[in-house]
Amino acid sequence: MRTKIVAGNWKMNLDYFEGLNLFNEIVTLIKQEVTGKQEAIICSPYIHLHALANLVIDTEKVSVGAQNAHHAEAGAFTGEISAKMIHSVGAEYVILGHSERRQYFAEDGALLTKKVDIALAHHLTPIYCIGETLKERESHKHFDVIKKQLVESVFHLSAADFSKLILAYEPVWAIGTGVTASADQAQEIHAFIRKEIAAKYGKAVADGITILYGGSCNPKNAHELFAKHDIDGGLIGGASLKARDFVDILKAFN
Ligand code: PEP
Repeated sequence: MRTKIVAGNWKMNLDYFEGLNLFNEIVTLIKQEVTGKQEAIICSPYIHLHALANLVIDTEKVSVGAQNAHHAEAGAFTGEISAKMIHSVGAEYVILGHSERRQYFAEDGALLTKKVDIALAHHLTPIYCIGETLKERESHKHFDVIKKQLVESVFHLSAADFSKLILAYEPVWAIGTGVTASADQAQEIHAFIRKEIAAKYGKAVADGITILYGGSCNPKNAHELFAKHDIDGGLIGGASLKARDFVDILKAFN
């Protein structure tokens, strides 16, 4: 049985107090309403991480993650935050390869390889994002793009390290647009990802890895998406900023 996960990506939203309030609301609803084995991860801005990590020590259902980490161990990188620092405050996850980082911060495969390695070295679980643009889908390159993103940044890992990852398929055209991939479109790519993993690492590794769908996922469409065989949950942007919506998505597993 793969772990079922809904991860929230707050992006650059919420000041410190707004973040604490939202997190408290989410944790309260989860404690009251979520009876299954699914888990929530909240990926907040760095400023919230320490406080949030301290608020979840009494529940195994909620964990905390960062949205980025620098690729170096330490040093003269003014304004940056290292994987070691993130882990030291109690965060367990880090989103890497999000399309907004690839697009606005020119993060490429080589850089992301270093980020994946250093995150694992500091006991952070990368939530590694992959996905094609609309242009790439329209020119039927989406399978090639997905494979390239896997090969260049995570297929160098040993099977043991690869098995620690969470993957997130996020078609760029569906992020923050209100346009969701249909459940069939998402399932097709998730099955393709699992097939590529099986070819590289074997069926057991492929069957064990959690693959999330991200892109305008909401309480209305989550159920149909999560019912698909190869979709193990969601990476949620906009809807993670509303406690009710986020927890309803978390409850959308069969
Ligand atoms: C995201 O940013 O990872 C995301 C999926 O955003 P949204 O849910 O808003 O499309």
